[in-house]
This record gives sequence, structure tokens and C-alpha cells, in this order.
Amino acid sequence: MTTSKTCKQCGEALALARLEAMRGEEAGVALSIEGMPAYACAKGHKRFLTADFPMRLIDSLVKAESPDLPVAQKKGLLKKRYLCPGCSGELPNEAGTHATVERALALKDSAPFSATLSVPLYHCGGCGVAAMRPGEEVTNALMKAAAQAFQTAGIPPG
Ligand SMILES: [Zn+2]
Ligand SMILES: [Zn+2]
Repeated sequence: MTTSKTCKQCGEALALARLEAMRGEEAGVALSIEGMPAYACAKGHKRFLTADFPMRLIDSLVKAESPDLPVAQKKGLLKKRYLCPGCSGELPNEAGTHATVERALALKDSAPFSATLSVPLYHCGGCGVAAMRPGEEVTNALMKAAAQAFQTAGIPPG
């Protein structure tokens, strides 16, 4: 199906397409997206369905970040430390496991597609709680991971 839109890069007509699987990772937060709908021209240039598509995608993923997971407390400005929400012991710098959330998404009446988000968990040696980093850090990393994924798929931002 072609549309009335034309490619900004070459002027060819844009058609609706499904993108191949793409992946990005930042600070242990990994995002993979399969079959994301987008526009593509005959020369393979790609474009988001709408300018706000990436923001909507990230928004709905942020909501999918496991809300029940314990969250580490951050201490220190120059040298960051993360404390266990259970016993206030210091958490290790290396993630022990990952929590994985898979979501089926449909944004702006787009065809549904799936995204898998993997969030690192840090295990307390004292009490055994597995906590994720504070939400805004996970969200920041997620935004960078998404930008990387879009870059590997060849979609220019915006
Ligand atoms: Zn083009
Ligand atoms: Zn603990």
C-alpha cells in the first residue's frame, strides 16, 4: 500500500512497511523491537509513522517497566552508590539477573508489534533482595537503547 507521503531523502513515494527486528542496549537495559510499522520508500529509506512515534513507544515501555520490582536507593553525587531497599546494604555494581517484560504494542492505530525490554537487577548480598536502579535511570537508559535500535534500523530521528 502506497501513501500520499513522499520520502524526504529522495522524493519517492512512501509505503507502509514492517521493520526487521532491531535492538539497542545501554547500561544493561536492553530493548528489542520486532515488526515495528514504519514508512519506507523503494530505495529503503525509512521514516516513523508520526513524529511522536518514538516518544509514544518509550512512554508505553516506561509504563511496562515492572512496577512491582524493588527499587534501589541512590546515594552520593560524585561516586554513586546504590543501597538495598530491604536492608540498606550496598548493592553490587554488577547486575545478577535481568527482569524481562514483553509487550504487544499498537500505537496510533498502527499494526500491533512487539517489544521486549530487559532491565538489570542487582542482588543484595545481605538479604537477597534483587532491586532495579531508580526509575529515572532506567528510563534514561531505555531512551538511549531505543535511539540505538532506531539507528541500527536506519530510521532518522524525528
Ligand atoms: Zn527515499
Ligand atoms: Zn538487602
